[in-house]
Amino acid sequence: MATDHSGLAPDTLTVAAGRPPREHDAPVNAPIVLSTTYHETRAPQPGDRIYARGSNPTWDPFEEALGALEGADLPALVFGSGLGAAAAALSLVPTGGAVVMPRHAYAGSISLAGDLAAQGRFELLTVDIADTDAVLGTLDALAHRFDAGQVMVWLESPTNPMLEVAELAVLTDAAHARGALVVADNTFNTPMVHRPLEAGVDVVLHSVTKWLAGHSDVVLGALATSDPALRARLLAHRTLHGAIAGPFEVWLALRGLRTLALRMERSQSTAAFLALHLADHPAVRRVRYPGLASDPGHERAAAQFNGFGGIVSIELDDVATADAVVEAVRLWLPATSLGGVESLVERRRRQPAEPATVPEALVRLSVGIENPEDLWADLDQALRRATGGRDGGL
Ligand SMILES: *Cc1c(COP(=O)(O)O)cnc(C)c1O
Repeated sequence: MATDHSGLAPDTLTVAAGRPPREHDAPVNAPIVLSTTYHETRAPQPGDRIYARGSNPTWDPFEEALGALEGADLPALVFGSGLGAAAAALSLVPTGGAVVMPRHAYAGSISLAGDLAAQGRFELLTVDIADTDAVLGTLDALAHRFDAGQVMVWLESPTNPMLEVAELAVLTDAAHARGALVVADNTFNTPMVHRPLEAGVDVVLHSVTKWLAGHSDVVLGALATSDPALRARLLAHRTLHGAIAGPFEVWLALRGLRTLALRMERSQSTAAFLALHLADHPAVRRVRYPGLASDPGHERAAAQFNGFGGIVSIELDDVATADAVVEAVRLWLPATSLGGVESLVERRRRQPAEPATVPEALVRLSVGIENPEDLWADLDQALRRATGGRDGGL
């Protein structure tokens, strides 16, 4: 593979990257290889496939495409889930080190890091990632107690589901100046909206389950980096801990990736349309969406990102109203997860692992690719029904 795609725009890369070589009669799409072992006709050499826990030809085109999309100098690494990828990224922290995470990072990432911290692997500190001065203060305090290479800064921006926006380049530079490694969870933005490696981040993480695969039918994760030494450690972790992806799932993810640009474009424009309508709705107390001019993260998002994403969070008056909205939708699907073609609603705090600082009556909307007016009509009727008739009056 490894065709030179430098200079191509991201929406072209989603289609062009990760194709088999252009040879007569060769397939245009990579086939699925299920074999667990490979012919060996000579003594093993570095880079040989040998066994399918270490390498599978079905992974290669997806890893090439995602690496190219994230602007990495190297192919990405695919994992069996986003959290499998997170575990590999956290393995880069030396025992006795420290991890700084947003207090509203994805609940699973915080739970995983908390579990490792409870086992004594490292110290875990959570911060308000949108409060740059507070994060810098935490990094300064850690720099006094830890040597270079012992601290990892975990960024997630916008956060899930609070949609807080961090100053990624500022925090990354500050972390590097203090000898810390920086990981950014780019699941919400996708490379169509932001490429954290370009802001200097060391490792980018994806729950491929979400926007990249895009159809709510595969669980996968990925890491991308331009640092060969880091990639070698992450690859060794994947092979030794066995958090590998099934070939069919990766094939589906590459098929999903082919339409990422179109899906994101549609989800984002509908999210912006819905956020404006929701902001005017009497039943909605607060809308969180970085695309709204009134949102606290708006200026930062506009300065750093090429879009505002497809997730909108709304706050209702109380838990009963929020639950009633989720029950009253007909087209939207009440379900967890996000980033699929179908629009989903979820009151996040119904999950015990969700941080207590996330408002109880917050409902997260993952905006799919259905007709925007249909989506609004359904939300509007659900809001009216849940609040006994107050309509949007639009
Ligand atoms: C879902 C999610 C994850 C975890 O990924 P899985 O594929 O579910 O293991 C990590 N980060 C974010 C932001 C997510 O939304």
